[in-house]
Formats: sequence, C-alpha cells, structure tokens
Amino acid sequence: MYVALASTKFQPIIGSSTTFKDVMGVDEAKAELEEITQYLRDPVANASDHSYSNTGKGLFSLPFTCLGGRLPKGVLLVGPPGTGKTMLARAIAGEAGVPFFLTSGSEFEEMLVGVGAKRMRDLFSTAKKHSLWIIFIDEIDSFGGKRSHIDASYTRMTLNQLLVEMDGIVVIAATNFLESLDKSLVRPGCFDRIVVVPSPDVEGRRQILESYLSKILLADDVDVTILARGTTGLSGADLANLVNIAAVKAANDGAKAVSMVDLEHAKDKILMGVERKSSVISAKSRRLAALHEGAMH
Ligand code: ADP
Repeated sequence: MYVALASTKFQPIIGSSTTFKDVMGVDEAKAELEEITQYLRDPVANASDHSYSNTGKGLFSLPFTCLGGRLPKGVLLVGPPGTGKTMLARAIAGEAGVPFFLTSGSEFEEMLVGVGAKRMRDLFSTAKKHSLWIIFIDEIDSFGGKRSHIDASYTRMTLNQLLVEMDGIVVIAATNFLESLDKSLVRPGCFDRIVVVPSPDVEGRRQILESYLSKILLADDVDVTILARGTTGLSGADLANLVNIAAVKAANDGAKAVSMVDLEHAKDKILMGVERKSSVISAKSRRLAALHEGAMH
C-alpha cells in the first residue's frame, strides 16, 4: 500500500510493495540492481567508513566495500516501453524498504525558461528534507536529450540543475533511447551505471504470462509455452494486456473459463491491431484472388 505525504508538491511513495520477484524475465538487470538495493537496505553496514550518517550528504563519496569500490551516482535503465523499468525502480525501493519519488521527465518540460530547473531544485530539496533515498525519473530524454545549438535554454537549465543536484540521493532514470541522451548524463560520476532492460525472451514471456494467467480462471486447453512462443517482440505490459483482453472476451462471451481461443484472439488483436470482423472474404473474391495469384507465377 502506498502512503503519500500531502504537504509537498512532489509526493513521495512510502512502502512500495513491489519486489524483484514481481518483475520477470529480466534476471540480468535484477542482478545488477541487487548491489544498490543491498546498500540502500543497510548503508552503514555496507560503508567501510562507519562514521557515515544518514544526512543525505556525499552518500556516494563513501566507499561501498572495504576494497574501495564506489556505487554509481545514478542508474540509467534503458529499454523499450513496458519492459518493467518503473517496476524495477519500485522494486528497489520495496526491497530496500526506502521511500521514493516517482517523476517523469515531462514534468520538467516547460516553455518558460528556468521553471523546469526550479522544479528540479524543489524535487531534490523535498527529497533531502524527507531523507528520501530514491528519485525515479521516467522518460529522462524529455529534457535530457542531446543538446544542440537550437535547443531551448530551458531544457539545458533543467539538465544542468539535475547534474548539480545529483549528490547524496540515488537517482534512477529510464529512457527508451540511450543514443538520444546528452553525453553529460552518461559520463562517469553521473548516470555511470547503465542497466539494459530488454524485451523478454521466450522464457521470460512464459514466466510473465504464467504469473498473469495464475490470477484468472483457465480452461484445460491453455498451453503457456505455445503462447510464449507466439508472442515474440511483446513486452511485459503487452502480455499483461493480452491476458486482460482474453479475460474480458471470455466474460463477454459468457464462458466459464478463459480458453486458448480467447488468448489467441487477444494475441492477434495486439500483434495485428483490432480484429476486422467486417472483413469477410466471399467465395467469389477468394477464387478471383487465387486465379490472380496463380497467373502471377
Ligand atoms: P516501463 O517503465 O518499462 O515502460 P512498466 O514498469 O511501467 O514499464 O510496466 C508497465 C506494466 O507492465 C507493469 O505495471 C506490469 O503490469 C507489466 N510489466 C512490464 N514488464 C513486466 C515484467 N518484466 N514482469 C512483469 N510484469 C511486467
């Protein structure tokens, strides 16, 4: 359950119930994020400098391990939409038991010079006031795209503000396009940990489908493996949607359980757009098409 603190414009989310187990098919990304989660869970035990106190200052100037390794200041999750990047950020907060801010780059898009930068300043000062540990910025390319001469100065100011503020707070950002990001964001000391969150492979899709299918009543003919094989390219969000579409169709048809036909129908709907019920091909036009195709070869 989420509890929001009402006094601030940016609402921290406290008590994220998402865990790494909920995010499926992205094992490599989870393994990379485990280190940060561990640190957040117990920063003092993990810092070799035990004089550290939770003031939100210079968090990452402390060595993470006694070997002198340092945690990244910022983590950039890169991958197509709907692959679980936001879920992963929620899971880090959930697993570590720390509150976090969920924002989107578009919240800092402003036509007036300086407004976006001011919002960024407000966000970090609110976070530091609450001793919050994680800020998640979705679609960071909204303002963190490559800077060029024609770029509006408000974007540049917002980006500069983020670069200035990124100290002592874990910033996790997400983007679909790494190449489009300004180089200053991905240089060492900034978002220096890049974690790829790819579209799920066949096993990932099977796991995701299985988890969403486990929440509905299924007919005996449902074969998750076949479904997973036939859904290449679909994201976790697409697969969750697929199961939902099938369940709604089955309910509309008055069925007692969701069958493979419902799931195949939902799959086709997602892969090929809305089903065209009106597109009935008559025997005559089918014959004409066959003759035409035959004549071509
Ligand atoms: P992104 O931030 O990458 O665009 P989200 O994390 O917002 O994607 O995912 C949107 C929804 O899709 C989630 O709430 C969840 O229902 C589903 N989803 C996406 N990826 C996964 C995944 N890897 N495992 C389970 N569910 C997923």
